[in-house]
Amino acid sequence: TAAAASTADRFEVRPSTTARSSDERDAILQAPTFGTAFSDHMARVSWTADGGWADRRVEAYGPLVLDPATAVLHYGQEIFEGLKAYHHADGSVWTFRPEANAARFARSARRLALPELPVEDFLGSIEALVRTDLAWVPSGEETSLYLRPFMYASEVFLGVRPTRQAEYVLIASPVGPYFSGGLKPVSIWVVRDYHRAGPGGTGAAKCGGNYAASLLPQQQAQARGCDQVCFLDAPTGSYLEELGGMNVFVVRADGSVTTPELNGSILEGVTRSSILTLLGEAGHEVHERPVPLEEVRSGLEDGSITEMFACGTAAVVTPIGRLASDDFDLTVGDGATGAVTSAIRTRLTDIQYGRAEDPHGWMRRL
Ligand code: PMP
Repeated sequence: TAAAASTADRFEVRPSTTARSSDERDAILQAPTFGTAFSDHMARVSWTADGGWADRRVEAYGPLVLDPATAVLHYGQEIFEGLKAYHHADGSVWTFRPEANAARFARSARRLALPELPVEDFLGSIEALVRTDLAWVPSGEETSLYLRPFMYASEVFLGVRPTRQAEYVLIASPVGPYFSGGLKPVSIWVVRDYHRAGPGGTGAAKCGGNYAASLLPQQQAQARGCDQVCFLDAPTGSYLEELGGMNVFVVRADGSVTTPELNGSILEGVTRSSILTLLGEAGHEVHERPVPLEEVRSGLEDGSITEMFACGTAAVVTPIGRLASDDFDLTVGDGATGAVTSAIRTRLTDIQYGRAEDPHGWMRRL
């Protein structure tokens, strides 16, 4: 397939006068931790209802100065994305399926009554920023430059209505593994008192409010000795939906793999969709359908479910070693990383890091 067009050359680069020295940068790149350090620049595009998208630029990374009456601070009209740039052995730098993130960003915008950023500007902002800050792409094992595009209602107005002014910003952060424990299996608390999303809500959109709503249940999970929370569907409370920031998969002893179907309240993960494709190619039977908690409980008890894993851009593929709630506490398989989980993680990261062919044309060179 032909690469989608990008407007990278329409972004005016205004170089930072406060860029860090190569020594300072290298010190950060030696041991990048998730989301704590940022590259020297950011990309921006501004929108007004009257003028549309304008002023494409790459400028010094720095604070956004907001009037206290800026709409986003009051009504949360905000969306974001997350993807990575990977350093390959030959020195080239690539992103993974950025068109999918661009499309999801546009769907999120629609749901939050924000303007849709054209796909070519989403791709153009990434190319323009990563080319400017190419030296910020780390090259260590399991490292990458995490890209965080976001958009917020920047109009100074306290009325509750869709903003007439919006700001799109892209920042970049060199990262290592998301969970400090490496590929250690995580424990999951199945939360019953709270839901992340409901029918007709914003669950399928990547908006800040969804994550704000997930923090209290996440605290509850941690208070119960678990790493992450798994949400159930709001209408019945009987079906697995997803974790606070990852999709969930169940692997059976017969090799079949099941993940909750896209029901409008879970996020359509790019990793989820890629893994479904790769598992199918590896000969697994794959199912997207409602996944009853009862079925998972009994499968873990009788051993017919042998593995569970979570997946997303930040943590890639993370094994689930334990599933617990008020009324059960179950070990998944033998509690260690399973063979299917490990193999699919390797398969996906081999493509992302250029160690394997890219048969689907998922990688885009910067
Ligand atoms: N679900 C939620 C709620 C998420 O925030 C994410 C991370 N974007 C995912 C799933 C996984 O999506 P992706 O594979 O596109 O990162």
